[in-house]
Amino acid sequence: MAYYNATICLNGHIVSSCKASFQKYCSMCGKETYSRCPSCHASIHGLIKLDGLAITGPYIKPFYCYECGSPYPWTQKILSNAVELLSLDDYLDDASKELIKNAIPELMVDTPTTPLAVAKYRKGMAHAGQTIKDLMHQLLVDVVSETVKKSLFP
Ligand SMILES: [Zn+2]
Ligand SMILES: [Zn+2]
Repeated sequence: MAYYNATICLNGHIVSSCKASFQKYCSMCGKETYSRCPSCHASIHGLIKLDGLAITGPYIKPFYCYECGSPYPWTQKILSNAVELLSLDDYLDDASKELIKNAIPELMVDTPTTPLAVAKYRKGMAHAGQTIKDLMHQLLVDVVSETVKKSLFP
């Protein structure tokens, strides 16, 4: 399988799904763009290349590098935003914060441990203040997997 090389910004905007280094900065948010994994320099997969033609249809951006398994910068940013957000909540104890923090990476891609992560997230968030609940929803709704979205944010 051959892929085009995508260009994606720090905030996860897809700048191009078929061209590397399409532009240096994102037109939507002004952040720097990436076409390679910052950890191992493997190119970021864009659309699948078939007989020289891009397959049309929705392009789903990857969250983790297929070569080294590192979270891409936009994934890292969601994780650190979530952690920062949680630290602002006065109602949550450290154990709950830890529970949620560990669950988030598993919510972004479907794995056998995703259902467990959903349960952990629910349990951890049970005592969070409404504002933080709403903000976490906003932060995560577009990045969690379809299955998680259905069960956490119906
Ligand atoms: Zn952007
Ligand atoms: Zn990598």
